[in-house]
Amino acid sequence: MTLAFRDDSYLRSLDATVTVVDERGIRLDNTIFYPTGGGQPGDVGVLRRPGGDITIVDTIKGATPDEVIHVPAPGSALPAPGERVTAEIDWARRHRLMRMHTCLHLLCAVVPGAVTGGQISDGKGRLDFDVPGATLDKDEINTKLNALITADHEVVPRWITDEELASRPELVRTMSVKPPTGHGKVRLLDIAGVDLQPCGGTHVRRTGEIGKVAVGKIENKGKQNRRISLSFAD
Ligand SMILES: [Zn+2]
Repeated sequence: MTLAFRDDSYLRSLDATVTVVDERGIRLDNTIFYPTGGGQPGDVGVLRRPGGDITIVDTIKGATPDEVIHVPAPGSALPAPGERVTAEIDWARRHRLMRMHTCLHLLCAVVPGAVTGGQISDGKGRLDFDVPGATLDKDEINTKLNALITADHEVVPRWITDEELASRPELVRTMSVKPPTGHGKVRLLDIAGVDLQPCGGTHVRRTGEIGKVAVGKIENKGKQNRRISLSFAD
């Protein structure tokens, strides 16, 4: 299965062939639907076909990392393997998710401490940081975050082999998350000079595309954990 969204997160529609249909959902030979993972919700959208469009209400991962299952609305008429469909994601929603996802990378660059969790939903996002003893200044985080957005940094996903990563230990030092090696290659998200970390999600091309954001609550979640919530300002 090819995952076209990994190389181009701006694809809104794609022709594909149905490979498997079972009680979990529909598999295609190629897809632009992002499956729930890494704190980012799965895409919703539609599979267009002559026999009647199928509404996709969720996208999830299958047994292997590259297996994507499109979950049809309950009661949908299902396609047959071999059938051609045109897959269309709900682009307006996905773009908001991409903007917020990219913004969370910037938040990693602004707040010191390891990330212990995170979640993105439509229009909102949050990260948990392990910051022993530190007090976080909401206004300062807000100012720094929006400055990184306004600076319009380029956002570049790229693949690196396990060998290349091993030969460049300086890369690991700049990352807040240890990359998952052992699969031959690792996908990195690089915001030059700002943030570098392994990530399989979908992002915007430049930080300016995120738009103005507002830091909401900063909550204590356990002794050392601080949860920072963000939303779009306009
Ligand atoms: Zn990411």
